[in-house]
Amino acid sequence: MRSLGIYLHIPFCRSKCRYCDFYSMPHSPADLKSAYVEALCRDLARRAADCADCEVDSIYFGGGTPTSLPPSELGRILQTVTDRYNVTPNAEITTECNPGTVDLHALQSLRAAGFNRLSIGLQSVHPNELKELGRLHDYAVFERVWNDARRAGFANLSADVMFGIPHQTPESFLQTLERVCELSPEHLSAYALAIEEGTPFANCADTLPLPDEDATRKMYLSMIPFLKGHGIGQYEISNFSRPGYESRHNLKYWRQEPYLGFGPTAHSDFGGKRIANARNLDGYLAGEDISVSERLGKAEREDEFVMLSMRLCAGLSKTAFAERFGRIPTEYLNRLRTYVPPGFVHPTADGFAFTPEGFLVSNPILSEVLSFGKD
Ligand code: SF4
Repeated sequence: MRSLGIYLHIPFCRSKCRYCDFYSMPHSPADLKSAYVEALCRDLARRAADCADCEVDSIYFGGGTPTSLPPSELGRILQTVTDRYNVTPNAEITTECNPGTVDLHALQSLRAAGFNRLSIGLQSVHPNELKELGRLHDYAVFERVWNDARRAGFANLSADVMFGIPHQTPESFLQTLERVCELSPEHLSAYALAIEEGTPFANCADTLPLPDEDATRKMYLSMIPFLKGHGIGQYEISNFSRPGYESRHNLKYWRQEPYLGFGPTAHSDFGGKRIANARNLDGYLAGEDISVSERLGKAEREDEFVMLSMRLCAGLSKTAFAERFGRIPTEYLNRLRTYVPPGFVHPTADGFAFTPEGFLVSNPILSEVLSFGKD
């Protein structure tokens, strides 16, 4: 049996954050949400036949805010997955969750339905930073959800934090990390704020009180040893965990392993094809095929393998590359080697990986390495 991850996109949120370009609708009525759950369950049933020889070992509900659906609806979707697919008994089953959308009873219902991991969006402990982002919660609400989740039996919790946000300083970011570490998370994701086109932030980017590049750099570089000191090691450019708690689902993306995505904007990598669903809720509800698929050539797959591997602290393994593509990636390795002297890349037992400094400039380096690889 081939292992498979399943991603379910829930495109609803309570309100729209000022930086967000994820496909999600605020203030959606209950009947629209119910119709969406119906459509998702139909889609899950329709595609199950293609997966008869797969075993599903990770299921991930993302969004949007999945917990803007009632726990019973999330449970119904999960039940459809477990009824229709071969889900392993120890599958990692995650839902993203925003503070203020669940109480103890809801968390108990989610746990009883089979969810065993929560990824909770904190972003910052500081009210002024949260307000700038347009987030509705404060730290007290986050802490209550966290403690309720523990009480409901969740032994695998992840917190999302953000750096480079308006008004933030290296000191205030460190305070956010300190408060999170007091809660003993199993996992932590830390993303840099990106100003995305079409968001309210993009319309006022010139006037946003953003920390400068030096301050943002300091936040990233000081976070890595700080978390390590709390037993939370970095394993990917933006992700940290206690040993054994790396996100199984996200590792599938970074290791080019098969996954199926359901719902508008969800992506799949399955049967040798890359499939992208459109931003089209109406079409999805009407049962239309909103997907566009392409078959990547070998050179594109190789490039992608290098790019995704280099997101991981383990870096590019020439053995793993050779197992996948039947050759040693000499040209990629030679190109990566040139970034060792300036300290952006370090050799590993089996290839190369970025240093923390290198992660900060990984995009321009990879565009050099990958364009070289295609020559
Ligand atoms: S809660 Fe998340 S998905 Fe929803 S608007 Fe805010 S950032 Fe976007």
